[in-house]
Amino acid sequence: MNGPTPRHLLHYVTRRLRLRRYLQDPGDGRPQPQIPPQGLLWALLVGQILRQSSFHAVEALVRSAARRRLSIPAPFSDDALGYFTERLDPGPTRQALLSLLRGAKRNKAFDDCRWIGLAIDGTGAGWRTHQGCSLCRPRRNAQKQILGYQHSFVMISVVGTGLSLPCDGEPYGPGDSEYAAGQRLLRRVIGSVGKRFAQYVVVDGAFATAPFLHTAGELGLRVVARLKDNLPELLAAAQQRFPSGPPATVFQQGPDRVEIWDAEDFDPWEALHWETVRVFFYRQHKPDGTVVEAYWLTNFASSTAGPRSLFRMAKSRWEIENQGFNEAKSRHGLEHICHHHANSLLIGWLLTILSLTIERLYRLRYLRRGTHPIRSSAELFLILWVNLFRPCSADSS
Ligand SMILES: [Zn+2]
Repeated sequence: MNGPTPRHLLHYVTRRLRLRRYLQDPGDGRPQPQIPPQGLLWALLVGQILRQSSFHAVEALVRSAARRRLSIPAPFSDDALGYFTERLDPGPTRQALLSLLRGAKRNKAFDDCRWIGLAIDGTGAGWRTHQGCSLCRPRRNAQKQILGYQHSFVMISVVGTGLSLPCDGEPYGPGDSEYAAGQRLLRRVIGSVGKRFAQYVVVDGAFATAPFLHTAGELGLRVVARLKDNLPELLAAAQQRFPSGPPATVFQQGPDRVEIWDAEDFDPWEALHWETVRVFFYRQHKPDGTVVEAYWLTNFASSTAGPRSLFRMAKSRWEIENQGFNEAKSRHGLEHICHHHANSLLIGWLLTILSLTIERLYRLRYLRRGTHPIRSSAELFLILWVNLFRPCSADSS
């Protein structure tokens, strides 16, 4: 059968996406492995796509009658997954993700778009009341008492192309920061996919710091960043100027009417080595009367990107929230700690990112070829489950 089954998906991953070598040799650090790494890694990946992300759930899958249809040679326990992920080098998984990105661009998987963007944002993923690993970030109340420990990482995703592809993650523990992790992430990704892969990076206000903006510039990327009160002087200057007078442009975006004010002669703050800062402000009128407003800053020249393009780039930041974190948390258990160990957590986040990207490339690009309609994520999930437990056809030989 040539339809979407877990076995067909594995064929797609090893042949079309060329991840065979990665599955066979994913950076296994176990000294004397009894179970080959491919079975464990594939179980974790296909478990994610089947929305069974906890190690217990993966163990239940590989001990069920479905194991052979999942192309997993032998059953194993959840302890084996803990031991494996503690010792797995994250490098090959990251390289696998970036190879998918390069392949997607080469195969023209992105819609015809002038601008390819990268969105970066941080999130909390996993809470514990007791400290247990080097990534535990203490959370305190007003009296400085520790309430518990959060685990956090920064994710990067391709956005603005019609196909959101999350492509790497970087943790930040105590004493580290979101925007420092964001810089490491950006350097690693651009170092691998090259400076010509994307044209801009879009971020929330927390990343609008001089070091982050300078790093993006060094890597050949323009920045589109939300302007918030962590930059009080620039925000005050922008609020003084916008919105007054007629907007620079007004257009319809679906049912919404959008007004944009835009000027590129604002002074940079002291630490920022830009000649000037361009600030734009939009007011988006929804049909129900609600109005959405925001200030943004950028170093795109007005001769390169007009206000309408900037508006689209700013809005593309939502893709990392909706199709990145929301999807990963609501369907893939991103906030569940399978095994409280720093490397296991990182591997879990990276494999979630990899499974999201594989699922999208398979569903939105591969399965839609020819005259096939686009299947929703929920539909593909159901078909895979149905095919997993369908009785084998009788052998007529
Ligand atoms: Zn921890």
